[in-house]
Amino acid sequence: MLDKAPDGKMSDLLNALDKALSAGEVERAVDLFQTDCYWRDLVTFTWNIKTMEGKEQVRDMLKARLADTKPSNWKIADGEDASETDGIIESWIQFETDVARGFGHMRLKDGRIWTLLTTMSELKGHEEPLGFDRPMGAKHGAERNRKTWKEEREAEAAELGYSRQPYCVIVGGGQGGIALGARLRQLNVPTIIVEKNERPGDSWRKRYKSLCLHDPVWYDHLPYLPFPRNWPVFSPKDKIGDWLEMYAKVMELNYWGATECKKASYDQKSREWTVIVQRDGKEVVLKPKQLVLATGMSAKPNIPKFEGMDIFKGDQHHSSQHPGPDKYKNKKAVVIGSNNSAHDICAALWEAGADVTMVQRSTTHVVKSDSLMELGLASLYSEQAVQSGMTTAKADLIFASLPYRILHEFQIPVYNAIRERDADYYKRLEKAGFLLDYGDDDSGLFMKYLRRGSGYYIDVGASELVANGSIKLKSGVDVKKLTEHSVILTDGTELPAGLVVYATGYGSMNGFAADLISREVADKVGKVWGLGSNTTKDPGPWEGEQRNMWKPTQQEGLWFHGGNLHQSRHYSQFLSLQLKARMEGIPTPVYGLQKAHHLS
Ligand SMILES: Cc1cc2nc3c(=O)[nH]c(=O)nc-3n(C[C@H](O)[C@H](O)[C@H](O)COP(=O)(O)OP(=O)(O)OC[C@H]3O[C@@H](n4cnc5c(N)ncnc54)[C@H](O)[C@@H]3O)c2cc1C
Repeated sequence: MLDKAPDGKMSDLLNALDKALSAGEVERAVDLFQTDCYWRDLVTFTWNIKTMEGKEQVRDMLKARLADTKPSNWKIADGEDASETDGIIESWIQFETDVARGFGHMRLKDGRIWTLLTTMSELKGHEEPLGFDRPMGAKHGAERNRKTWKEEREAEAAELGYSRQPYCVIVGGGQGGIALGARLRQLNVPTIIVEKNERPGDSWRKRYKSLCLHDPVWYDHLPYLPFPRNWPVFSPKDKIGDWLEMYAKVMELNYWGATECKKASYDQKSREWTVIVQRDGKEVVLKPKQLVLATGMSAKPNIPKFEGMDIFKGDQHHSSQHPGPDKYKNKKAVVIGSNNSAHDICAALWEAGADVTMVQRSTTHVVKSDSLMELGLASLYSEQAVQSGMTTAKADLIFASLPYRILHEFQIPVYNAIRERDADYYKRLEKAGFLLDYGDDDSGLFMKYLRRGSGYYIDVGASELVANGSIKLKSGVDVKKLTEHSVILTDGTELPAGLVVYATGYGSMNGFAADLISREVADKVGKVWGLGSNTTKDPGPWEGEQRNMWKPTQQEGLWFHGGNLHQSRHYSQFLSLQLKARMEGIPTPVYGLQKAHHLS
């Protein structure tokens, strides 16, 4: 037999898959997969975000969904070629379903499918108006009483939510709500974003004053409108706030600032939400079909309860309420916690001349920002990646193509290399008493983020202050109680304090569902975030995808959206398509709706 080039091998496999699926022959299709295969589907087959692991799960899904989905035209994506490295052939692929066009990625091992990513690009007949189809803007010709673009925008803003109901309400106008709102606008889904802060970007502006993004610019683009090439690598928080404000405006979002969502309830009969919001001092009742909580996964503060908090005479607040260091010069500050916020706040307090002690209860994963950028992110998100032709969309899809079940296997070598490169640095931190970890299975920062969204510090300078003792450290201890002027630790140490900051993290987003809807609905939906990896703070059973994020939940019409800028950009595409399909009455039978195993 002729030894075919990667393109030929990939095309043969895609043809065989196409034939088997078109003929409805599930077994023939399953035969094309490896035993240890993974098929990650972002909405195309499952109307869900779901990874099928192994042939049996692929078979079950196809049996349930193939007849409806009617996939066809599987081929190497236009303009792309397959490639082969270390015996793995991979390629960008394209295909269609009955109702959508899809794009994806495939890896072949020993001639069979090892990983398959299928994602929905657009719904047929409901494509975004772009390129040749972009709007005209001007209306050439002559017409009496014609309205300008501005007048039309003003009319829409005046009627939506009052004389005309939005199809979708997004609660929370941070980057998550804004990115989703932009996509829904392009898909012509009438949407109102409700935000209790005054202006878009305020959720960043209101954080502690020293904060800059920890992720680099290449990772942070919003949909449609990338940052310019002279944008700084790490956006200062007020600058990203301004970008979000500009973005919300030019993307023509119906953004209700200074508006708080007070209550929401779902009527099963009319399949409609009643959402009560407070706007301009008046109650407004909205009646959307879909409700998205984009209220922030780092927004529901975990505030510990310690004896004596009620008698403490100094300032005490959660890290999210920390105003910055200015008024604490020469004061004694105790920061409870040892993750990102704790480090940033300690460093800023030290810079302002405060006497700072960090209290570290348990181990923390620390990674130097430049090591993370160079070894962890550079191949996909960096200037070098851009120069070598990597686009943001492709980087997002490559990352998405690695199944969560095996993602840690790709991450462990990266963090081993970082440990080797920064061995002296880690030694110095340990010598200062800092308790380090690298994740339960040494898989580092990304896995910790995906599993629990906490437990790490991306070092932008504070670790040196810990190592050299400028930031004092008490580790392996917890707070026992507070007195009027001090914090007493479990080892008996008394730390005099004029300020206590609780940098103790955030709770699950279903807490917002409990506040706004009901405890019953919050419990029905269950914990938000995490993979079910059975590692610290991410209890099993294995879910294979982030719990409840960007996909249908146990509560009809209720969705959760958010995450870092990369996730907001990437997953808003698939959430917006799920919402659009529902608005257009396209059947969206959900395959494998997740069960709730944990309440929070
Ligand atoms: C210290 C710190 C550093 C971080 N660094 C990065 C980083 O470098 N890169 C990154 O991508 N992410 C970072 N994150 C994570 C960051 O929280 C998220 O990326 C981002 O804030 C998530 O955006 P969001 O829109 O999901 O939520 P948020 O920005 O939290 O927005 C949620 C919004 O919901 C609003 N809201 C809540 N309840 C209601 C209500 N009832 N009615 C109306 N409005 C309501 C809030 O006012 C808020 O504006 C960091 C987080 C913290 C705390």
